[in-house]
Amino acid sequence: MDEFLANALDDLDRRGLRRRLTPLQRADARHAVLDGRTLINFASNNYLGLSHHPAVVEAAASAAREAGAGAGASRLLSGTLDLHTKLEASLAAFKGTESALAFPTGYMAAVGAIPALAGDGAAVLMDKLNHASLIDGGRLAAQGGATLRVYPHGNWDKLERLLERHDRSAPRLLIVTDSLFSMDGDLADLPRICDLAERHGASVMIDEAHATGTFGENGRGAAEHFGVEERVRVHMGTLSKALGGLGGYIAGGADLIELLRNRARTFLYTTAAPAPVIAAAIAAIEVVRTDEGRRRRETLRANAARLRRGLTERDLDIGASASQIVPVILPEIDRMMSVAAGLRERGFLVGAIRPPTVPTPRLRVSVTAMHTPEDIDGFLDAAEELI
Ligand SMILES: *Cc1c(COP(=O)(O)O)cnc(C)c1O
Repeated sequence: MDEFLANALDDLDRRGLRRRLTPLQRADARHAVLDGRTLINFASNNYLGLSHHPAVVEAAASAAREAGAGAGASRLLSGTLDLHTKLEASLAAFKGTESALAFPTGYMAAVGAIPALAGDGAAVLMDKLNHASLIDGGRLAAQGGATLRVYPHGNWDKLERLLERHDRSAPRLLIVTDSLFSMDGDLADLPRICDLAERHGASVMIDEAHATGTFGENGRGAAEHFGVEERVRVHMGTLSKALGGLGGYIAGGADLIELLRNRARTFLYTTAAPAPVIAAAIAAIEVVRTDEGRRRRETLRANAARLRRGLTERDLDIGASASQIVPVILPEIDRMMSVAAGLRERGFLVGAIRPPTVPTPRLRVSVTAMHTPEDIDGFLDAAEELI
């Protein structure tokens, strides 16, 4: 074991891929305090600033006082509180589905749901750039006898060929995709995917982790944005990004949710999320559905457009970003890392993303509704000087 550990760590060092944690003294949707310095935080997924919204914080604090810090058991044992049921009803009402199921994290929602829905004989088709949780869910489904096939990012011809190949042999076909891709900030062509699925008798599962609360007229996600909510069978998302807390969910038909309640191992064999976490999520969904939520969404969109426009005007490569997630592609790892360090010197925290998380190194700049135009313009000037 010692030899294995030393070699594996050396190998990471040699390839410039060793990762280190950067503990912050404090972070919200605008600022991060690092080594006593306050930086502008362009590295968070807290897109609407709800982690620090007074109503959300108060809901969590009072739930902790009333119900304690921990749930004490798994959901099916004695861990389900009225609060969990209330959250699930609120998620279903928000997403416009019959039912919904909450998981402790989004990762667990994916890893639990995909194998539960696609076992022996099924085929699971995935976009190459899907989030790791979906890929891992697909791998588990494959262990259970499903066929897992990955198509190149956004390659609909390839997806169609896979559907043609499998629609006679697999009794169940499931297309799984991020709706808003987490490292490129581009949207999946959901109408196209739904067309293909319908032509071949496949079901569609979308992961709205970054689109929940941020996309669509009412913040319901990219499916709302594209007008395809009714055509998507499995709506997955997280409570951890725009909703500002922690947790994941699947929303869909009553039978779908009932099956997951019985078969999703990440639901069955883990302790229920604590009351403060659940109360915070309920409060956050309420904010998203009000005028205040709409205003925050509008500010987010304006900020994202300002950032994308500014980077493009400076001839920086932002790929196909169409959202609040804006990559700045810098293919050389060392250079990318030194630009990230330089930005930090100048007061801006951004993500520095390397393989294997992404194929091409990039800064990942994520803007929120809490940034001011001056924050964004200051960042653009610093980026222009450094890159
Ligand atoms: C963050 C993320 C997840 C995981 O959600 P958590 O609640 O953080 O576990 C799943 N899918 C995508 C696309 C994500 O970005």
